[in-house]
Amino acid sequence: MSLQGIYDAARQGVWQDENPSRCGCGGRGWYLSDVDTWHLCSLHGLNAPCPEDETEETFDWRAHYRRNNVNAFRSFREAARAEGWEGSNLQFILACRDILRNLGIKPFPDQADWVNAAEAMIEKARQDKAAREEQAYWDREHAAWMDRP
Ligand SMILES: [Zn+2]
Repeated sequence: MSLQGIYDAARQGVWQDENPSRCGCGGRGWYLSDVDTWHLCSLHGLNAPCPEDETEETFDWRAHYRRNNVNAFRSFREAARAEGWEGSNLQFILACRDILRNLGIKPFPDQADWVNAAEAMIEKARQDKAAREEQAYWDREHAAWMDRP
């Protein structure tokens, strides 16, 4: 790709992902392109100073990463609800905990791990919904055949 092409792709945000740890900005809010240009992440860059800015050293990065992770966690929870997940916020947290325990990657998962588990819940909600629909189909068919003499 040409230098201009790399720059244009970086500007268009092809590196972006709603999950901060998978986003090209890494949750920091700024992406460094292959042609050494900085690009603000529209998903995670709110108030984040540019890495070449002087306020960069005094900025509260811990709070920044936390806010981005909390926002992503909530967004994935709502996406799972849109896919049919029915449960309280607490039940969602418990389901994420089960995912983290079953994966058993780390004894003490960090914020990014929790966000990844929340994102995995979207696909789980999709699969659970499909399984419920399939079961309902068979229940209906079974009942219909039982009614026929
Ligand atoms: Zn980002």
